[in-house]
Amino acid sequence: MSGVYKTQNPDETKELGKRFALKILNQKEKRILSLVGDLGGGKTTFLQGFAVGLGIKSRVLSPTFLIIKKFKIRHAYFNFFYHIDCYRVQTNEEILSLGFGKVISNPQNIIAVEWGDRIDKVLPPETTLINFEVFNKNKRVIKIKCPRKKTS
Ligand code: ADP
Ligand code: MG
Repeated sequence: MSGVYKTQNPDETKELGKRFALKILNQKEKRILSLVGDLGGGKTTFLQGFAVGLGIKSRVLSPTFLIIKKFKIRHAYFNFFYHIDCYRVQTNEEILSLGFGKVISNPQNIIAVEWGDRIDKVLPPETTLINFEVFNKNKRVIKIKCPRKKTS
């Protein structure tokens, strides 16, 4: 799904998130996402659709004070979805002290990190990078790059 996407409203951004989730469930790969870019760019909105795609019923919110939120996934292979917001995280060590190392090394976890650039060193090269840009009031430019770095 690497490419540049333009969405005209929040629903289109959610739909893109949902499609990405279904791909992960089918392929059992690309399970780590780093979402970066403008405040109000649509990172949380994308993850609301993403969670729907994973079959999660509870609502995904902007976790202002919460850094890590865990959701159960009913799937033959994957167990949990972790929504992580690093807006208030300053260092790689900080997220590791919250037990992130164990979470990320488990292949049955799906992980999406808002402000993932804050913990760049902790995220593996195969992480999918998704960049959000506010074009105008309702238009967003969403660039998906997977993997974020060449793994060879
Ligand atoms: P972030 O998590 O990147 O800070 P949010 O998803 O919390 O951004 O907020 C995006 C805001 O922009 C929401 O209020 C949403 O309704 C609005 N919005 C307007 N157009 C779009 C669009 N095309 N895609 C996503 N959000 C949009
Ligand atoms: Mg957000």
